[in-house]
Amino acid sequence: MNAVKRHVVESYVGGRWHAASDGVTLKHAVTGSAIASVSSDGIDFGATAEYARAVGGPALGELTFHDRAAILRALGKYLLADTAAFYELSTATGATRSDSWVDIEGGAGVLMAYSGIGRREMPNAKIVVDGEPVSLSRDGSFLGTHILGPRPGVAVHVNAFNFPCWGMLEKLAPTFLAGMPMIVKPASQTAYLTELMVRSIIDSGILPEGSLQLISGSTGDLLDHLGPQDAVAFTGSADTARLLRTHPTIIANSIRFNAEADSLNAAILGQSATQGSAEFDLFIAEVIREMTVKAGQKCTAIRRVIVPANMVGDVEQALVAGLAGVRVGDPANPETDMGALVSLDQRDEVRRSVDSLRGVADVVVDSCDFHDVDERLGAFLAPTLLRASDSRASAVHSIEAFGPVTTIISYDSAADAVDLAALGKGSLVASVFTPDDREAAELALGIAAHHGRVHVVDEACGGTTTGHGSPMPQLVHGGPGRAGGGEELGGVRSVYHYMQRTAIQGSPDKITAITGTWTNGSRRNDNGHPFTLHFEDLQVGDAIKTDSRTVTIDDIEAFADLTGDHFYAHMDEEAAKASPIFNGRVAHGYFVLSAAAGLFVWAPPGPVLANYGLDNLRFATPTYPGDDLTVHLTAKEKSLRAGAGYGEVRWDAQVVNQNGETAATYDLLTMVACRGEGESS
Ligand code: NAP
Repeated sequence: MNAVKRHVVESYVGGRWHAASDGVTLKHAVTGSAIASVSSDGIDFGATAEYARAVGGPALGELTFHDRAAILRALGKYLLADTAAFYELSTATGATRSDSWVDIEGGAGVLMAYSGIGRREMPNAKIVVDGEPVSLSRDGSFLGTHILGPRPGVAVHVNAFNFPCWGMLEKLAPTFLAGMPMIVKPASQTAYLTELMVRSIIDSGILPEGSLQLISGSTGDLLDHLGPQDAVAFTGSADTARLLRTHPTIIANSIRFNAEADSLNAAILGQSATQGSAEFDLFIAEVIREMTVKAGQKCTAIRRVIVPANMVGDVEQALVAGLAGVRVGDPANPETDMGALVSLDQRDEVRRSVDSLRGVADVVVDSCDFHDVDERLGAFLAPTLLRASDSRASAVHSIEAFGPVTTIISYDSAADAVDLAALGKGSLVASVFTPDDREAAELALGIAAHHGRVHVVDEACGGTTTGHGSPMPQLVHGGPGRAGGGEELGGVRSVYHYMQRTAIQGSPDKITAITGTWTNGSRRNDNGHPFTLHFEDLQVGDAIKTDSRTVTIDDIEAFADLTGDHFYAHMDEEAAKASPIFNGRVAHGYFVLSAAAGLFVWAPPGPVLANYGLDNLRFATPTYPGDDLTVHLTAKEKSLRAGAGYGEVRWDAQVVNQNGETAATYDLLTMVACRGEGESS
């Protein structure tokens, strides 16, 4: 698995590896020597897309969200079990050990995170019911609800060069969970590392065949073969995003297109974060980290350092001192803080961007000692710190020098800082450093519309923040405007991007039959007490109508004494009557719930193992002494916990009084044993 031996970067299409000779030559970032060539010549792109739809799609369609989540977890563990070859090859991209950690282990971590999201936030089913049904008729006989279902298409992922592993895995995770097969096209410059990881994934046999294909090199005419059920997710420059987004086939078929493009992310130092404060020091450390991690080749890196005008000198001095301690050199050396850019071409591109910025900014730092390398051979560049001579000069808000480069920009007031951040025309992330709550709120809310993520740092979270530059799988990664307008990550939101949301209208019975979730107004089945049924035997719609219970003043007083809840509405007739809500003493809402449980539970040991919570609880009508309560409890939704010996059952609980009015309504959440409890089912 050594880069020097690997001359041809192959593609994996149609279930086999494809090698093309005479490709583009790829060079080692540190030594400049040729290490590989890449080309997609000879690939039948239409057949590749069709293979995904015909082979990968159906295989994924056999699986539930929980099945797919388990596969993602297995894949993450598998990749983490043996990372040595990835690390070794990653050095050729100029990455230090810690840069590679983010790419390799961070990427596997995204798989694990999405596995958890799939298991916790999605049902063990093939569709998601999105929200509660809405009644569309007076008598409740016609309803509407939403489902999210799989799309019988293929997702094409076009990735940037800077994170050859993470960039692939962070798109793979939500796409796979959604059940869509994918074709991954890494940036050519670092395709050899993506190829190594895909080879490992394919060899593992963990993913269903056809769910993942790899195109190394150009996408050829692939986009021409896409149709309305397909999707494209792009990461890279704003220029390429524009080119792909306006591709005639993408426009003609309204193909879902998600873009994560470049952006000029800001870090704002609050006026209250004066020198000597913890926030000032955290700010300086974060700016230096963002300049040097991955040699600044991160879409989230801080490009604009927005600081109060009267603190520019302090900030400049602290950054100069900090940068002097950064060791730049061979990324393979564990002592090295910052390695090389990905290629000489990339270094030259960054130099050109810095030259353009020089017209509107003064250079503060642009040199360093290069340790243990001949910097003329490799793609080395000194960390470069600039100071804008005019805070509003458009170049400092529009030119992205995709390397270890940042510009200090001064502001006069919080409103000014917000305006300056907005001049980036939409960014992935901005950080705000301040100890002051009001300042934090003013800045964060002021800039929120212009950013996908706002990272607010004070002393309390200074030691625990995941960092300005780290997209988190659970949170939105994407940004408006120049940042591409997409949401590549964001927990379950990004899974839904690869699914179709459809409104379903019909009678309650039909909505129940289609969604698999019992809908109010549809048939209830009497199969005996449903708490006596094991998970497999229990059907959605199985229900019990309980006996009734009369609530008394003694009940209310006993409950008050037991719990210590002597709120006047339960204890003081006069005060309760005087309230605008009650006509006299009322039962505690929690007593109503407890009494309801007393009515519906099946007391002896049985399949119901535990109750683990309630959702959507509402007390709709007060319960007065003398009221008779009855419960309708109906199995609403089932989700098997594979291998756990039980499943989760959501029950619709409606507590009604003698007049048929709803006293309480909620979803009761229980764990129900499978037959032969403890066995995998
Ligand atoms: P790029 O030149 O735009 O390339 C990105 C990807 O698009 C590569 O895979 C490239 O393939 C492909 N591509 C280029 N032209 C294409 C075409 N006509 N048809 C189909 N595919 C095409 O960007 P890059 O230089 O790799 O990455 C650096 C940029 O990406 C920076 O601006 C950075 O800010 C941005 N970025 C953004 C994010 C984010 O999450 N927002 C993350 C990382 C990077 P080839 O390599 O084969 O040309």
